[in-house]
Amino acid sequence: MKSLKELVRPNIWKLAPYSSARNEYSGKEAHVFLDANENPYNKPLNRYPDPLQQVLKQKISSVKGVPAEQIFLGNGSDEPIDLAYRCFCRPGRDNVVAIEPTYGMYKVCADINDTEYRPVLLDDNYQMSADKLLNACDNNTKLVWICSPNNPTGNSLDHGEIIKVLTCFEGIVIIDEAYSDFSSQKPLREELQKYPNMIVLNTMSKAWGCAAIRLGMAFARKEIIDIFNKVKYPYNINYLTQQKAIEALDDPYAVEKWVSLLLLERSRLINAFKVLPICEKVYPTDANFFLAKMTNAKVIYDYLVERGIIVRNRTLVSLCQNCLRVTIGTKGENNELLAALRQYQ
Ligand SMILES: *Cc1c(COP(=O)(O)O)cnc(C)c1O
Repeated sequence: MKSLKELVRPNIWKLAPYSSARNEYSGKEAHVFLDANENPYNKPLNRYPDPLQQVLKQKISSVKGVPAEQIFLGNGSDEPIDLAYRCFCRPGRDNVVAIEPTYGMYKVCADINDTEYRPVLLDDNYQMSADKLLNACDNNTKLVWICSPNNPTGNSLDHGEIIKVLTCFEGIVIIDEAYSDFSSQKPLREELQKYPNMIVLNTMSKAWGCAAIRLGMAFARKEIIDIFNKVKYPYNINYLTQQKAIEALDDPYAVEKWVSLLLLERSRLINAFKVLPICEKVYPTDANFFLAKMTNAKVIYDYLVERGIIVRNRTLVSLCQNCLRVTIGTKGENNELLAALRQYQ
């Protein structure tokens, strides 16, 4: 890969970060804090939170098997997605390459950061070709976006093809593993040491059942984490979120239980979809949702909305004509969906 100095925007490379009161003091002995203009009353909300979320990172480290210094925490995955552009892509000059179709935020953040976005179509089985992605890259390509299991298609991408991109591309490869808890594939975050140019994204929003607290993670080598840390807002993860995340991480068995329940419901729902006359195809999935090709996605979507049931209409997304994306709900919710679809004519 290129050196980080060549990849990072020169202004970011040179940046002297803001130094907060909580950054400058890092000892253990103090008990009188008169350094941050906080109100001494209204504990514990009166205090600024730990800007580097060290207690929380220790927990994540033990659950995810990634050293704390290789973890960045953001306000959802949205924050590290945006930071990747702000750290690496010179507006108006650099570009990024991404699989297509995939998660919409990569493109939105490219547009916000005035960075050319180069989508590379997956094949008919929603698989990617490393060569096709690499051919779309040039000397100003800073990032390649890969999402596996992919959203909205649901499938995992071929491991060998991902590894080929990781080893052949000279810039940063971002692997979004938001759904890896639902997949039987070995997560790539376990191979961080092998790929110095890899950033892996995880989130508390899906399997962990904590979309409301907004906590996303980026795993990468320490030098990349340090760059994200100097660009982020000083107190980007609030105290309440840190507390709730610590509580959630103390009970990983709850997540295991939810995941196995959701996987059972997933196969039940898929089998029921396959025999619906209005369903033409269900695509293979490794996530807590599936993509189904319907006879007429728009009309069926509107019909479900009328009944207070919301799925995602993906018919306008490349390669997803007439497709609905269905999230796996509780048994009761799934039954309501099936009952409505069986009544449809
Ligand atoms: C849902 C999702 C996320 C999570 O985003 P948050 O901002 O962490 O809630 C990230 N990536 C993909 C592909 C997703 O589908």
